[in-house]
Amino acid sequence: LTFEEANLCQTLSNNIAKAGYTKLTPVQKYSIPIILAGRDLMACAQTGSGKTAAFLLPILAHMMRDGVTASRFKELQEPECIIVAPTRELVNQIYLEARKFSFGTCIRAVVIYGGTQLGHSIRQIVQGCNILCATPGRLMDIIGKEKIGLKQIKYLVLDEADRMLDMGFGPEMKKLISCPGMPSKEQRQTLMFSATFPEEIQRLAAEFLRSNYLFVA
Ligand code: AMP
Repeated sequence: LTFEEANLCQTLSNNIAKAGYTKLTPVQKYSIPIILAGRDLMACAQTGSGKTAAFLLPILAHMMRDGVTASRFKELQEPECIIVAPTRELVNQIYLEARKFSFGTCIRAVVIYGGTQLGHSIRQIVQGCNILCATPGRLMDIIGKEKIGLKQIKYLVLDEADRMLDMGFGPEMKKLISCPGMPSKEQRQTLMFSATFPEEIQRLAAEFLRSNYLFVA
């Protein structure tokens, strides 16, 4: 598979070219068609494998195809995509890639993480966003304050799921998927990325993903 064959939309292709990407990495080659087909995915991928683009590109392609117009970039726009990752460095990196690839569109990405003022995170969200990149603790704080609408969620990404478990975020991840207002797994597309696939991750995958999810290693 090549970027051209992946048949992503034109703006996205331009942004990929601008980033200097010419060849798909293996995790991208296997994951992009699965995500474009609307399937749930559990992928074993290390940092540096290109996993961020592996989930961002097909999600952005879907959003662009569904027609992001100026009218969707407005206050109170509720996120369609939530990406959860364990550290502020990681969520920032994901946010910057989302910005880079959505350049020239009306898609707005926002990043929130702990250790900053809660009010700042809330303001980011209430200004409206399509893609929310968040650490689990901060995300659950804001959901607890009912400052974020979840009913538009179509895509949920759990990045470095094994590290989130190691850092003690298992309860937050479970709370997130059982939040009132969070679309059920049948109504959303869920993608999990993890460097390792121990039993605990397999159990989470069974709980979070539709039963026909695909596994890529
Ligand atoms: P990640 O594993 O998502 O953290 O990505 C590792 C690094 O590889 C990042 O700096 C990406 O910008 C870069 N990268 C991802 N995909 C590609 C690609 N297809 N070609 C060149 N660089 C890439």
